[in-house]
Amino acid sequence: MNTKVWKVDKYVDNLESNPQLVDAAQLLRDNEVVALPTETVYGLGGNAFNDEAVEKIYAAKGRPGDNPLIIHIADREQLNDFVAEIPEKAEQLMNGFWPGPLTIILKMKQGVLSEKASAGLTTVGVRMPDHPVALALLKQCGLPIAAPSANSSGKPSPTTAQHVIDDLQGKIAGVLDGGPTGVGVESTVIDCTEAIPVILRPGGVTLEQLQEVIGEVKVDPALTDEAAKPKAPGMKYRHYAPNAPLYLVAGTKEFLQGLVDEKQQESLRVGVLTTEEHQTEYRADYVLACGKRSELESVAAALYDTLRQFNQSNVDVIFSEMFPSEGVGHAIMNRLLKAAGNKIISE
Ligand code: AMP
Ligand code: MG
Repeated sequence: MNTKVWKVDKYVDNLESNPQLVDAAQLLRDNEVVALPTETVYGLGGNAFNDEAVEKIYAAKGRPGDNPLIIHIADREQLNDFVAEIPEKAEQLMNGFWPGPLTIILKMKQGVLSEKASAGLTTVGVRMPDHPVALALLKQCGLPIAAPSANSSGKPSPTTAQHVIDDLQGKIAGVLDGGPTGVGVESTVIDCTEAIPVILRPGGVTLEQLQEVIGEVKVDPALTDEAAKPKAPGMKYRHYAPNAPLYLVAGTKEFLQGLVDEKQQESLRVGVLTTEEHQTEYRADYVLACGKRSELESVAAALYDTLRQFNQSNVDVIFSEMFPSEGVGHAIMNRLLKAAGNKIISE
């Protein structure tokens, strides 16, 4: 399949009637799949009403069929079509964070959306992305769009159109290139089907921000306890992994350097994931700065691109610094732990 690449300037007026968007929206109505920029990562969109379109998403990504897709909308009116009820707290969250990186799990009207999109669950995860291209495309096609991250399953999520092309060229109808995404980690997933909402996946909206709007918020125990079964089916899978084994290092820079030296003595090529503050302080085969530690938002924005860059450097092993698990650091550490398959070396 020839994958079209459309460059779009997200700042132009009347994006909706831009010919590239009209073309992409038509492909979505024809039940083809198209990658689109959002404020978190690039998504791979397909018509959420249609089984064939949704199957194409799973096939292109190689995504396990029991991992449900998030449904993207441009207008809250669209919820009436497929959501059974909107509890008060969900309403408050929509008012507070939409459009934005927050996916809300709600009870679903049965028999409306493709069953494959919800992987057989009775609930649905829905969000309104805060990106002009995504919103214009959703408006132009007039459909709820099922969209997981537009990467091959298991790989780091894409934060540029080039990442999407690297993984999915030839497997999807097109990519709308709207430049690099902003937040860099996926949406926060919050389950609002229970009296006290539960965070199933940390992401672009922090626990602290959620608490400010709705008070008490629980966190799925599976996020901290490896033995517990996660409530978001997708959270049980290995994700975001670079080709070389990745180890998170809980200790000083000197301790991390010692690990590098040991591996180099075994003639292995060693990568280090650090931040701008410490980049010049390590001696290794490939040292990458992933944003600035003093601004965790910049670490989130650079994380997936950094993990992907290690694949181009043919390192045999990667050691990474760790980050504080607060604010967006919660999402950063969640993704790094998954990328590392939970391997931590402590001093
Ligand atoms: P991705 O599409 O890669 O951003 O992943 C979507 C995440 O949302 C996965 O972890 C899914 O398991 C989770 N998710 C989507 N829909 C639901 C739902 N109805 N209930 C629980 N988790 C969901
Ligand atoms: Mg994903």
